[in-house]
Amino acid sequence: MVKYEPMHPLRGTFYWLSVLIALPPLLIAEVNKTEEIADGVYFHEGDLGRRGHSNNGWIEFKHYVVVIDGNFPSGAKYVLPKIKAASEQPIRFVFDTHHHGDHAYGNYEWYVAGATAIAHVNVIEEMKRYETGQYGNAPGRWEQAVIDRPDVAASEFLPPSILFEDKLILDDGTQRVEFHHFGTSHTHGDGFAWLPKQKILFTGDACVNGPYNYVGDGNTREWIETLEKAKALGARLICPGHGPVAGPELLDHQQNYFIQLRSEVKKLLTKGVAAADMGSHSPVIKAQLRRIEGLNKYIGTWFDGQLSKIVEELQAEEPAAAK
Ligand SMILES: [Zn+2]
Repeated sequence: MVKYEPMHPLRGTFYWLSVLIALPPLLIAEVNKTEEIADGVYFHEGDLGRRGHSNNGWIEFKHYVVVIDGNFPSGAKYVLPKIKAASEQPIRFVFDTHHHGDHAYGNYEWYVAGATAIAHVNVIEEMKRYETGQYGNAPGRWEQAVIDRPDVAASEFLPPSILFEDKLILDDGTQRVEFHHFGTSHTHGDGFAWLPKQKILFTGDACVNGPYNYVGDGNTREWIETLEKAKALGARLICPGHGPVAGPELLDHQQNYFIQLRSEVKKLLTKGVAAADMGSHSPVIKAQLRRIEGLNKYIGTWFDGQLSKIVEELQAEEPAAAK
């Protein structure tokens, strides 16, 4: 998820009114509510629609707290008092699941609270490529966000400084969190936080629960493979980067969305549909996907962007077949 997209229509008033009317109270999505999903393990669904916030998680170790995702500065500031209210231990680490603003721009706020940011090594590379001119490149998304967002303007860019390649483990005998990189998906530096004892998986935006798949910085073919590795962990609860907590089927839905979307685009290219005309076929593709269990929730305003990215990827994979 990138930072300065407009409010998603599915998150507008009418959507929420219809949800409130249609669902029994227990199934209402709990934006901005803290949920203790296991002993000492918390989930907080961020307000994406109005503030662009990501979800957060946190895990209480014996002497410290580990937070999942840096969020935007305003998201960090919003959730910090909630963590302090729930957990007595100091916040020592924050895990950026990837480089995007809604997952990493809040790092400075966590540093002020006493925490050091952890991420996959490619998060730094992606930050150099996309996020900021502070590495000597052209100004990036951070510099734009300073203009667009008062919370970013009032904060500082702080990249993660504990970096891992494949895996990093925090284990104090009471809690264990494994940070894994399974390959490219939403970005080239996605990290998963896996709690083997509780079988809980925090996925960042490699898996979301709603129409939030931004595909511009990743690769959908590799995304499918990366999710296969995440599925192999055998999680019982999935905490996505955006949208509510779900069962393990969410990983299947997310993976199948890209499998089906790629297959539909490939079929049309094979039939001779020009890449430039793919957008005009989106109603037909959407209808096709809606017939498949679990996929409707992923169809949203970014659909046409997803189609163009997949066309681009297929052309790079099979230049002769996909002109
Ligand atoms: Zn995001």
